[in-house]
Amino acid sequence: MERHLVVIGGGHAGIEAAHIAARVGVRTTLLTMNLDQIGQMSCNPSIGGVGKGHMVRELDALGGIMGRLIDRSGIHFRVLNESRGMAVRGPRAQADKARYRQNARFTLDATEGLHLRQGAARDLVFESGGRKVRGVRLLDGSLLSCDAVVLTSGTFLNGQILVGDQRIDGGRAGEPASTHLAQQLAALGLRGRRLKTGTSPRIAKRTVEFGRLTPQPGDDPPRPFSFFSGRVELPQVPCHIVHTTARTEAIVRENLHRSSMYGGHVEGVGPRYCPSIEDKFVKFPDKERHQIFVEPEGLEAEEIYLSGLSTSLPVEVQEAMVRSLPGFERAEIRRPGYAIEYDSFDPLQLGRDLRLLDFEGLWLAGQVNGTTGYEEAAGQGLVAGVNAARWLLGKDPVVLGRNQAYIGVMIDDLVTKGTDEPYRMLTARAEQRLSLACDLADERLLPAAREIGALRPEELDRVAARSARRARLREVCDTTWVTPASPAGRVSEEAGLRLQGGMTLSELLLRQHLGVAHVDGILAGLEPMTGVEEGWNPGLERDLLLFDLRYHAYREREARLLEVQGAWDHVHIPADFRVEHLQGISREVREKLARHRPQTLGQASRIPGVTPAAVTLLHLHLRR
Ligand SMILES: Cc1cc2nc3c(=O)[nH]c(=O)nc-3n(C[C@H](O)[C@H](O)[C@H](O)COP(=O)(O)OP(=O)(O)OC[C@H]3O[C@@H](n4cnc5c(N)ncnc54)[C@H](O)[C@@H]3O)c2cc1C
Repeated sequence: MERHLVVIGGGHAGIEAAHIAARVGVRTTLLTMNLDQIGQMSCNPSIGGVGKGHMVRELDALGGIMGRLIDRSGIHFRVLNESRGMAVRGPRAQADKARYRQNARFTLDATEGLHLRQGAARDLVFESGGRKVRGVRLLDGSLLSCDAVVLTSGTFLNGQILVGDQRIDGGRAGEPASTHLAQQLAALGLRGRRLKTGTSPRIAKRTVEFGRLTPQPGDDPPRPFSFFSGRVELPQVPCHIVHTTARTEAIVRENLHRSSMYGGHVEGVGPRYCPSIEDKFVKFPDKERHQIFVEPEGLEAEEIYLSGLSTSLPVEVQEAMVRSLPGFERAEIRRPGYAIEYDSFDPLQLGRDLRLLDFEGLWLAGQVNGTTGYEEAAGQGLVAGVNAARWLLGKDPVVLGRNQAYIGVMIDDLVTKGTDEPYRMLTARAEQRLSLACDLADERLLPAAREIGALRPEELDRVAARSARRARLREVCDTTWVTPASPAGRVSEEAGLRLQGGMTLSELLLRQHLGVAHVDGILAGLEPMTGVEEGWNPGLERDLLLFDLRYHAYREREARLLEVQGAWDHVHIPADFRVEHLQGISREVREKLARHRPQTLGQASRIPGVTPAAVTLLHLHLRR
């Protein structure tokens, strides 16, 4: 009989998991509490940023949908860190939230082999007396029989919303918590912890004086996220910036004890990199003011989002705080900010394919694994979805390495080191930042995309053609001789560069003081020599060529440094390996290995506290 996968949850992890599993040929049902809330952005109406934008490009390169969805729903695109080099550039876009949800729904509706079902999962059903998944029981009593489950229930497990001293059960504002499922998972012995996060108030647009705010235009023209969608469809609108005032600070300080967080009502650990406004004033007392981004929630939406003003203060204090911002004196809060506390699971219980190790047929992805953010959730969703599907198809898992993708870095961090606080992706977490540049994700992940098989053959061919064209361009530059009389030579002389006997085009382009306009002048006309003209983007091709030429030596060094680590990642530790039998290592290391259960020697080497000597010993033991 055809095997069946159920994905629980229609958030950012769930939609990627369900979509990719169906794309690779497995009958899949996406079960979620409310079909109208599929792809809902619980917090800020934006996708991407530094590190996060990298993961969106990676998802796109592997056959995920987030990049395409934001290209169809984005109303303000901006590449962050544009001037700081290709490795740390991060594309970001504001979404029209309603259109994002609608596009997510349309995409899933149109995916062959994918069935959508509204309902709340009450329990997982296991084979009698065992840990093999057999189905999902819904709150309405019905049963969805299946052979595997990907659980992506976000902030909903035992979710509690906090505003001031009020505590209300809920998965996010206006939606119920998932309590039965949380109880069952705890009873099954899953190790978990309480985490928390928070969101900002939404303001009625017509009550804000935009003329007093600083406008922040998007990039013109906007650059799409997806390697395949090719264009941004919607009209573009500006964001705005405003700063907190001395009055804002006074209001927050006077009422600190009334916030859920500082009033002692929160037990969960919050995200370090998305602090609440209360945290900002307490932790940075010398900072006179904090920047707040005023972000539209949609083209026609009457609500705006105040990014940077996340809070759990009582509603009347939130009102006074918002009205202390210049231009917001008459502002009306439509939806108050709040904090949410929820159950998450210790990701050390997972394998590198995100399978729960002590169960058969159960994968976890997204916020439930201790991460925060849409992109982090989506990256895990894709990996869990594809691997659950491959398991059902009898294929080996696809595991992304740290040197292949930020998604690989994130999953390796989670399942090797675990996390004590909501984990967010930062470029600093990767060792090979140059190789992981987001504009190279399509080329870099082409072999993995072929293995997964979710992209259409013509899409894979397009990536291969682009890659071949770049290699050809590099070859042309390496073999073209430039003299003062040649066209490129004349441009260089104009730029004040003396060529004397001549040099190759590649050597010329290595000269750092050639400006962008000069490089463009030199490269103009080279495109037909690469043999593929379709889809040529002169600015991007120039940047990629310069990156390739100027960082070549650094990338080689980076690769050499990581060769040893890479090799260790291929030394597998058998699942039945007993660390108790390992002689000559300390008790601390033995305990850590037993707790973290690394699947490779590379993972073992990255566990904090596991010494190089212990890894060598382990290596020797495994070889024997
Ligand atoms: C108040 C709040 C503030 C946040 N602040 C930030 C922030 O500052 N920065 C940041 O990066 N991220 C923030 N987030 C987190 C961000 O929303 C999540 O990281 C992201 O949405 C996680 O995606 P997910 O797919 O794991 O879960 P979610 O998007 O939460 O989706 C979970 C899905 O599971 C469904 N579901 C749950 N239980 C069941 C069940 N039993 N049966 C069927 N369906 C079920 C839900 O209906 C929902 O569709 C915040 C979230 C909230 C709620």
